[in-house]
Amino acid sequence: MSTGKSIYDKAPVFLQNLLLTGYSALLDRKRYGRQFSEYAALLERSQWLSGPELASYQEERLRLLIGRAYDTVPYYRRVFDERGLKPGDIRTPADLPKLPVLTRQDIKDNFKDLLSTGLNVKTVPKGHTSGTTGSPLEVCYDRSVIQFTYAALDRHYRWAGCELSRAGDRIAVARGNVIVPLGQESPPFWRYNRVHNQILLSSFHLSRKNLGHYFRELERYRPAVFDGYPSTLYVLAKYLHDNGRTFPAKAVITSSETLYDFQRELIEKSFGCRVFDYYALAERTVFASECSAHCGNHLYPEYGITEVLDRNGEACAPGEAGLLVTTGLHNLAMPLIRYATSDMTSIRPAGCACGRRLPVIEPVTTKAEDMLTLEDGRVISPSVLTHPFKPLDSVAASQIVQEGLNDILVRIVPNSNFTPEERDHLVKELKARLGERVNVNIELVNEVPRSRSGKFRWVISNVKLGI
Ligand SMILES: [Zn+2]
Repeated sequence: MSTGKSIYDKAPVFLQNLLLTGYSALLDRKRYGRQFSEYAALLERSQWLSGPELASYQEERLRLLIGRAYDTVPYYRRVFDERGLKPGDIRTPADLPKLPVLTRQDIKDNFKDLLSTGLNVKTVPKGHTSGTTGSPLEVCYDRSVIQFTYAALDRHYRWAGCELSRAGDRIAVARGNVIVPLGQESPPFWRYNRVHNQILLSSFHLSRKNLGHYFRELERYRPAVFDGYPSTLYVLAKYLHDNGRTFPAKAVITSSETLYDFQRELIEKSFGCRVFDYYALAERTVFASECSAHCGNHLYPEYGITEVLDRNGEACAPGEAGLLVTTGLHNLAMPLIRYATSDMTSIRPAGCACGRRLPVIEPVTTKAEDMLTLEDGRVISPSVLTHPFKPLDSVAASQIVQEGLNDILVRIVPNSNFTPEERDHLVKELKARLGERVNVNIELVNEVPRSRSGKFRWVISNVKLGI
């Protein structure tokens, strides 16, 4: 929609609603085409397959992918030839370590050579990673992977007891699209997508002053499901909580950012329902989501092959945290094999109480670049740092920026009652976790900046992680 963005921005609200709805109908042809129903049916069935049955599906898809990569993708032909490998050498996920890990930089450096020959780089559908790492990435898709992804999301909605379709539940979407021009100062801070029964809430206009307007419209529209960034949904939940209100919903779906425990707790309380988190990448190599037993995120092995590697590139034992390395099984236009994400997780040895054999990973709570690296080599997970903030009612929002090995900046959006004692408490408690040598500076601000994609990063480290 970027080319029409200035036209959109200048259009009146009713026309913006029509444009959004029309644009969405156009996308639908790509997302919900013929293969979508086939994939949705497959995923409905495959969730109850046994371990060996899932493995055999993965092997079949892997062989197809490897054959296609070798025959039609110049980058992979080179990688195979340099190592003296033939497609027959990679038959199961256990053979994948014969191939090198593919980094983000490798994709940038070899973009055209990673595209299957015969495809036109100009016309093939593309996706963009959000660039929270400061280096946005473009990836090409084929039709199958687009539709498989929507089928995966459809299954996740069903796990949450909701329906994602034209005739399904009303959904309030709170993600990063700039659907309301940034300079707009009065309501409506939302738009409608009538094709999908969605109200789209702007993540960029959330202030105390505006939230009353948001909720008046939500009361009128009565969405059954909230779907969006945890940070935005947390702001809505906090507003409800602070005003002694609730907004009962069927489920809240979160994704795209780390979901912290304190966010989950308050969102569940304010919306009177459970949160169902999912993890997916614009690179379309992995999909994982929570079922109603909430035992962690089920990997979708039908979607991709997942490895968890330690800093030497060796496979981690179950329960041991490492870097998530992923192979998408459905994107034949641009196969990404052993793609190294910047996310960390571990395989949960116990599996899930629901009985599904889809492996379970710990929630991916730790984008590698969102971890603090300390002078003594310790790597601190953001969730550990939430505790010093817990007793503070006077903090409306916050953000932690590591500016150097021993320099931490804490941005605070204070309520009127933020006291010097609370400031001291915060410094003391953070030092207790990070070390006395670390300088903790508190800066009071009016708002916490979001990235250009509208995502909120609670912890930002500018110190390179040694992993
Ligand atoms: Zn489960």
